[in-house]
Amino acid sequence: RVAVVGAGASGLAATKCCLDEGLEPTCFEQSQDIGGLWRYTEHVEAGRPSLYPSVISNTSKEMSAFSDFPFPEHFPVFLPHALLLDYLRRFAERFSLREHIRFGTTVVSIRKHPDFATTGQWNVVTEAGGKQTSDVFDAVMVCSGNFSEPSLPLQCFPGIGRFRGQYFHSRQYKHPDVFQGKRVLVVGMGNSGVDIAVEASRVAAKVTISTTRGAWLLSRVFEQGYPWDMVLNTRLMSLIKNNLPGPLSWWLINYKVNKWFNHENYGLQPERSWLVREPVLNDDLPSYILTGRITVKPGVKEFKDNSVLFHNCPEEEPIDIVVFCTGYIISFPFLEESIVRVENKHASLYKYVFPTHLQKPTLAVLGLIKPFGAIMPVAEMQARWVSRVFKGLCQLPSQSVMEKEVNEKKKNQVQWFGLTFDEVLKTEWLLYLDTLASFIGAKPSVLGLLCTDPWLALTIFLGPCSPYQYRLGGPGRWQGARQAILTQWHRVLKPTRTRVPAGSSSPFPSLLTVLGFLLLLAAVIFGL
Ligand code: NAP
Repeated sequence: RVAVVGAGASGLAATKCCLDEGLEPTCFEQSQDIGGLWRYTEHVEAGRPSLYPSVISNTSKEMSAFSDFPFPEHFPVFLPHALLLDYLRRFAERFSLREHIRFGTTVVSIRKHPDFATTGQWNVVTEAGGKQTSDVFDAVMVCSGNFSEPSLPLQCFPGIGRFRGQYFHSRQYKHPDVFQGKRVLVVGMGNSGVDIAVEASRVAAKVTISTTRGAWLLSRVFEQGYPWDMVLNTRLMSLIKNNLPGPLSWWLINYKVNKWFNHENYGLQPERSWLVREPVLNDDLPSYILTGRITVKPGVKEFKDNSVLFHNCPEEEPIDIVVFCTGYIISFPFLEESIVRVENKHASLYKYVFPTHLQKPTLAVLGLIKPFGAIMPVAEMQARWVSRVFKGLCQLPSQSVMEKEVNEKKKNQVQWFGLTFDEVLKTEWLLYLDTLASFIGAKPSVLGLLCTDPWLALTIFLGPCSPYQYRLGGPGRWQGARQAILTQWHRVLKPTRTRVPAGSSSPFPSLLTVLGFLLLLAAVIFGL
């Protein structure tokens, strides 16, 4: 019996993976519906994530899909929240997940059972309709998400107490009319900050973004108009990025992201740019900077009564409204610190999933990771691995081996080869997926396929690493995986090529011919 906390994207994947492995999941959802983050509500609800209505997914539908359940072909390539929720509803329906979910039930506490050392069991206390219930579970998957508790570090902003204007956290933001005719300051250049600044600038008198570190800005519409993640998250690119010496990988990234516009010229160049930051996805910001709708400034030095002073800028900027787009705090109120300890914006978990010090590996955290790609297939892969660990089909290494790896990660030292990220939670998407897939025997063998199915092998190696690749073989093999891979570009172009009939639906055949030899070369050099 497995307790799954939360019925968002991760919780649904966890419930489904438990069922696939013959486990018995009970998913506890505090609200009355599935969808978690992706279920938009007009009002901010305590303890739940809050979206603004204009939010659109940052990752494309082909790269965001669960590995055995592609998005419908008529869905747009990047998804408004309502369609993402629609997809999650279809997923829950297709795999009959609802009957395993207890709605309106909040998990209050998860404590080790007195016999934990021998059974690995947990006492799970839940509350529904004002009544508390305690149940014993053999294992727990924590899928409660990381975007419910805002981080509003007002202590970092001297003078905020005397500021007479209005201020609020991005979590409170819904519609741009609050900015009508106002001088707006957006603090923080994450995805929320840029989205809100762009929206505000359509109605505000003036919009300024303050960023301490700058950001890489990517367009969803990447090279030749293809979705950014389908161009960048390929096995070929991953091989190059992760095996080149650090400075060369860094140069490659710099080169790629500066092709759209020169970040330095737009005041966006990230500080300490050898550390890779999460890119910000926005198609409008550069043109809004060019047309003077948005100005980019350094970090805030001080707030005054009606204005703001920035570092290295002598002039005060008059401001009426401040939106703090300063991110979120990770917390697990139902868990003791001795089980999962959050420090410095991460938790010490083996492969971002398992606490290292438990006598039995019967508790796992899903989705507490910031991979540079879609999170849904990552959470799903974590769930596939975890359910096999719970079942005893996969073993974890010894505590000392896991701790050593976790401590190495914590140091986050600059690597000689490949990329180094600015935060412990950040990691390379494809490498991480491949690592977990290899634990469960679901990592595709490109060389093996080259002998049996060369066209598929080349598509997998040169094309986007769409999640269906992890259903070609091993446990949970899906008959439709090959077809889903070979038709992925068709599903991308279907909603866009609406006037001229489709010819060749893949941008890759010519690329394949030219670069085919690279496969052999890379395979020989790196022993794929
Ligand atoms: P975030 O990515 O955590 O960014 C928070 C930003 O706040 C930081 O990058 C930093 O910006 C600034 N900041 C933090 N602490 C600060 C401090 N003490 N003083 C000054 N500035 C501080 O938060 P977010 O933008 O809300 O995004 C949260 C997550 O949701 C991210 O993973 C994001 O990708 C995701 N998201 C996705 C979408 C989408 O799919 N369309 C939309 C929004 C958010 P500077 O370094 O610039 O100062």
